[in-house]
Amino acid sequence: MEKKEIVSYLMEKDVLVSPELLEKLENVSLDQIKNLSDEELLVYGKDAEQLIGQNLEWKEIDKSKSILEKEGGEKDYTSYVQKKEVKSNSQVNVKFSYNLEPKKRKLKDFVDLFNARYASMEKLLSKRMEISNLTSISRLKNKKDRDNVSLIAMVSEKRTTKNGNLMIVVEDPTGTTNVLVNKNKPELFNEAKDIVLDEVIAVNGVSGDNIIFANTVLWPEVPLTKELKKIDEEVYAVFLSDLHIGSTNFLPKDFDKFLSWMNGEVGNDTQKAVASKIKYAFIVGDLVDGCGIYPGQDEELSIKDINEQYNECARLLKKIPGHVEIIVCPGNHDAMRIAEPQPPLYKDFAGQLYDLPNVTMVSNPAMINIHASENFSGFDVLMYHGYSFDYFVANVDSIRNKGGYDRGDLIMKFLLKRRHLAPTHTSTLYLPQNEDALVINDIPDIFVTGHIHKSIAANYRNVTLISGSCWQSKTDFQEKVGHNPEPSRVPIVNLKTRKVKILRFGGNE
Ligand code: ZN
Ligand code: FE
Repeated sequence: MEKKEIVSYLMEKDVLVSPELLEKLENVSLDQIKNLSDEELLVYGKDAEQLIGQNLEWKEIDKSKSILEKEGGEKDYTSYVQKKEVKSNSQVNVKFSYNLEPKKRKLKDFVDLFNARYASMEKLLSKRMEISNLTSISRLKNKKDRDNVSLIAMVSEKRTTKNGNLMIVVEDPTGTTNVLVNKNKPELFNEAKDIVLDEVIAVNGVSGDNIIFANTVLWPEVPLTKELKKIDEEVYAVFLSDLHIGSTNFLPKDFDKFLSWMNGEVGNDTQKAVASKIKYAFIVGDLVDGCGIYPGQDEELSIKDINEQYNECARLLKKIPGHVEIIVCPGNHDAMRIAEPQPPLYKDFAGQLYDLPNVTMVSNPAMINIHASENFSGFDVLMYHGYSFDYFVANVDSIRNKGGYDRGDLIMKFLLKRRHLAPTHTSTLYLPQNEDALVINDIPDIFVTGHIHKSIAANYRNVTLISGSCWQSKTDFQEKVGHNPEPSRVPIVNLKTRKVKILRFGGNE
């Protein structure tokens, strides 16, 4: 009986039901079907039965399935589905997590990657209203001198001329040209000084012979209209990174103090009340110190076996109350390739972490939606460990001069403005995909990173920027390169107010 109702309901919705699906509808109620959004109803076929009634990312599954069908192989798709099944009741939805095994890469893949990146950035840039008279580089040759023109192009060279102006060589799929930024336009000149190689920008200016005299440079940016989402109830999310478990510099006492607080065992009444309202804990990479990450690391390890490092990590994270959803992405110290995007931690090494029922494993980078409900779309959290940060601290004057590693917020702003997590090709090791997985296509509500071992929080156009701290005291290497880590701090966001506090669990704090 119910089957019939389901079919007529689906037909009303213009969804055709295959006989195969019909057979599988045995265990599904009409209510479950009605709870699906129209978009979700587009899923069909043999996997439907096990999926219906669970709060799954249909679109995501469909997408990963079609990618896999193209590239061959069933394994990852199935594991994705299985993983999601376990998490059916949670308010954690993985919007983007890269999970495909690498295939052999060829030079052409890098060409494809650059084309994919250009296409993505062009799409983002062309949404900007300020761009007029858009043309391509090949068409510039037909322009009269002193025409007003705009280009969307990738930066391939940047230098200072004898006269102290900036000369930028840019290219688009049709050719290459020069852009001159005159030092007598101080506001433009200052902004243009931050231009880095391989980034895609829009330039507006006056055309000359194989040159554009720039009047404006535009980046894809975060629109000023981005809303600051809030919820009615007081719920908190905490952000950890860079535990470096296994290192002799790991700070077990501090971490224990944090765990005790999470369990309501320490702190004053207010602090305990806050702890009881934590629903989400993000861990943004470098869970363990790893093995063989740098020469001589062995001497700085208290746990020398990688499995044991992850086991210890699982033992500690198990102490986080079970109702807290833990979301984990890898970093450059974790046991896997460091080329990005990094897949979720390998089960072979981190099996015991996978066994924790409240842990969701995602790739680096990843986009996670939390706390969605019937009438609230949830918060999007972009997780990125931050391997590219070192390059931009070293190469972007405006970041370096304002504090470099002490100003994680400036690095995050820089990347959001460019809508890319590693705009310069050499800023990170990159594994070419069909799509550029490091493009920031959707603007998150919260952007969280790690890697620099210093906590900071800021707001940029209603995106909450958070850098996690670390749980490792200053290492000899950091001493040598002049880093000043601030361990054992925990940024925590009140989702009702979107205010961030940084709590301190350090021995002397
Ligand atoms: Zn680290
Ligand atoms: Fe790191």
